[in-house]
Amino acid sequence: MEATTIVLFGATGDLAKRKIYPALYNLFVDGKLPKAFSVVGLGRREWSDEKLQDNVGKSIAEFSRRKAVSEEEQGKLNEFLAAFRYCVLDVGNEEDYKKLLTLVENREEELGIPQNRLFYLSVGPEFFETIAFRIKSSGLGTTKGWKRLVIEKPFGHDLATARDLNEKLSAAFSEEEIFRIDHYLGKPVVQKLEMLQQANPVLQAFWTNRYIANVQITANETVGVEERAGYYDKSGALRDMFQNHMLQLLMMLAIHLPSDSTSEDVRAKKKGVMEALVPLQAETVASRIIRGQYKDGAIKGEPVVAYTAEPGIPADTRNDTFIAGKLEIDNYFWRGVPVYIRTGKRLKEKSTRIVIEFKEPLKQASQAAQAKESGIVPNLLVFELAPNEGITLQLNTREPGAGGVFKPMNVDLHTHRDNTAEAYENLIHDAFLGDSTFFAHWDEVELSWAWVEPILKAFENEQVPLRLYEAGSYGPKESDELLAEDGFHWWFDD
Ligand code: NAD
Repeated sequence: MEATTIVLFGATGDLAKRKIYPALYNLFVDGKLPKAFSVVGLGRREWSDEKLQDNVGKSIAEFSRRKAVSEEEQGKLNEFLAAFRYCVLDVGNEEDYKKLLTLVENREEELGIPQNRLFYLSVGPEFFETIAFRIKSSGLGTTKGWKRLVIEKPFGHDLATARDLNEKLSAAFSEEEIFRIDHYLGKPVVQKLEMLQQANPVLQAFWTNRYIANVQITANETVGVEERAGYYDKSGALRDMFQNHMLQLLMMLAIHLPSDSTSEDVRAKKKGVMEALVPLQAETVASRIIRGQYKDGAIKGEPVVAYTAEPGIPADTRNDTFIAGKLEIDNYFWRGVPVYIRTGKRLKEKSTRIVIEFKEPLKQASQAAQAKESGIVPNLLVFELAPNEGITLQLNTREPGAGGVFKPMNVDLHTHRDNTAEAYENLIHDAFLGDSTFFAHWDEVELSWAWVEPILKAFENEQVPLRLYEAGSYGPKESDELLAEDGFHWWFDD
């Protein structure tokens, strides 16, 4: 791996503290960072190098999966921290970028490393354009090595703003140089999803409408809007979760890959899935999309207030805190398989999972009742992403002498190890390598926004009713009805 300088915008922020520093540290301990690396942290606060190093140390003590306890580990941590420098920078100030360029060049010279620069934008989206522009105009982006831009969500507020942002970024970085983080793509189970299907002809053979009855993708949260009222009330579940994370999970699940596929193959297939996703029309949105907002209620016995009573949220807001949808992929593999997606806040339990429900041959005959009596349930392939990780295949089995009654048996295909690399580690490591397989390509982002656009319009025009649901439930009952109409139900809701 080539020696690199990471230029981190937002070094004093929350994301850096909770995710980026622990990820870098774990990569360092695992020997997955370049031998020579340097981090230049940027923020508005008047910090010194020591203050940044001290804060990085604290972030590791609090948030890293590995702590530095023994003397040897402490030594390693100190070695890691010594790579950090701090520079005060206001994103709009040209002079500050000149100062930054001098610091970066001095560090490269000091360490004798090539000018490989990874610019990481861990700041609010309102700064993305300015930073990209200044990186170019200040000369920071004119390197004798490579340059890359790692950028956090949100990527635009709708199709038009996403296109505009992309155009501005493209003036300073090429598509190959832009790494759009969708941290769901870094999750070990999502990465396994590809591998399992690619490497196992059995699974590949079953990955079609011939055997699959429906797909369910759930991302339920128990938390409410928390401290992000200003952002969330303008975004809602549709923009915050559905347009990016949920559609990315759908793409990853629906692609069919040969075992020797490259990053370009993955992207081309994902684009193909989005192109095959049946678009919604103004008239069809209301029958396919459920829009919800939480009322007051209780989560695990604790009373919680309604969304409209949360601090910073206007009492008359029509924002969505829950979305459920029925989607169709019109291609050879998936035609006729409904894909149900739901995500929301203040729901009964935290769970992010993908369920693939296989068809029940017995149901096709008049033997459905017989199947029920005998205890036979559909085969399910379940990918648990959070709070626990796991992949299981539900089969039916019967003990000898059990009187003809079957019981479901779960075959464990993925054992969770406590110390597995986390999403940010996987993604930052890939960014160092220049591997963009698990990042969102512009084509995917653009097609996702285009698909969501009619829903945004229908919400704006009040063509879709806002369903209030009790906090601590599984969302509006209309979300259950969406599946019931097709003879299905959400798995694992009690
Ligand atoms: P934050 O508010 O905690 O930190 C923002 C950072 O930006 C700080 O370091 C601050 O110094 C810097 N900053 C603000 N104004 C600046 C200016 N004018 N000039 C220079 N620096 C300035 O935000 P965060 O939670 O760390 O989020 C950062 C980005 O990551 C956002 O785009 C957010 O949407 C995204 N994100 C955050 C999370 C999360 O869990 N926190 C998750 C996903 C995506």
